[in-house]
Amino acid sequence: MTHDGALTSGPDGRWLPLPGWRGADGLRALVTHPGPLVSETVHALLERGLEVSVATDTPDAEVRDLAGRGLVTVVPTTGAELDQVDLVVRDRAGLAPEETAASLTTASTPPGEVVLVGGGPGSTGLLTLDGAEALRTADVVVYDRLAPLGALDLAPASAERVPVGKIPRGEFTPQEVINEVLVSRSLQGRRVVRLKGGDSFVFGRGGEEWLACAAAGVPVRVVPGVTSAVAVPGLAGIPVTHRDVTPGFVVVSGHVGPDDPRNTVDWAALAASGLTIVVLMGVSTLGSIARRLVEHGLPGTTPAAVVADGAMPSQRSVRGDLLTIAAAADEAGICAPAVAVIGRTVGVLDQVETGPA
Ligand code: SAH
Repeated sequence: MTHDGALTSGPDGRWLPLPGWRGADGLRALVTHPGPLVSETVHALLERGLEVSVATDTPDAEVRDLAGRGLVTVVPTTGAELDQVDLVVRDRAGLAPEETAASLTTASTPPGEVVLVGGGPGSTGLLTLDGAEALRTADVVVYDRLAPLGALDLAPASAERVPVGKIPRGEFTPQEVINEVLVSRSLQGRRVVRLKGGDSFVFGRGGEEWLACAAAGVPVRVVPGVTSAVAVPGLAGIPVTHRDVTPGFVVVSGHVGPDDPRNTVDWAALAASGLTIVVLMGVSTLGSIARRLVEHGLPGTTPAAVVADGAMPSQRSVRGDLLTIAAAADEAGICAPAVAVIGRTVGVLDQVETGPA
């Protein structure tokens, strides 16, 4: 059974469900000819409940990353049996057509605007209603890899879609180039949505984009997002605060480890704070962070957890204590994106007391 075309992408890259298409729980999709938009294609299918395979003999970094996170299965093109899947999808063939910038740029063109939209941690369901509305009226969407890629379909078919995301330790678009894209497009009088994962102002460089727009005289506004720092632990049943357990929580970046001079976190103060410690971008530095906290007196038995791919079908988590968590995460094959939580709120919801029978 092949519903070829039940869900297809138009020439402009927008998904076009055919009449009668009612979602796809449990159905299998095969993405053929994976191209530069393979992540967008795969996430759109996952959001519709499909199991996704990608047919390629030479998986690129993007496909390897999707497979490594358990979001897709990679099959060789010769072994891809079309009659064993329910939907065959050709990868979206490329970006939406380039805008005719020259025709739009005139001295009298009023500036458009830039809306910094926090998209939440990965699934469209966690995008705010304001964020969805901004997408619906966008002329341009500039988006990161950790943004809820399924939400791109909310933008009009005619909207230009500009991916600027980065694979951890892989290719990325320099921030100056992103700023330039935002400013130049909005100065053409277009409504630009800058769609990011989580909240734009939590390790999202939203402040830099705001300043670049303000310096260029472009109106800029913010639609806050659900930050992964709180939502991802929450999705795994870990509150970041709990009455009588912790007086609060703190969010730190593990992008560089505590031994790196660029890391200016006061680990001694953190270890003594009694706060729940949430670490973003810390998969590879978690071991050294844990060691540093223990050196400063935080007990090695402090509960800890790592939650990866929050709000995605591949969400998984590992629990342990401060001394063991990095090795346990490593053993479980946890990779970015993941949030680490250190503190006594980890496990606090496990202690369910049952009343008298
Ligand atoms: N602005 C974002 C954070 C950007 S830094 C926010 O507010 O959530 C990127 C880091 O966020 C990742 O390295 C990871 O630590 C975390 N992250 C983002 N999305 C995530 C997800 N779906 N699951 C787990 N961690 C996530």
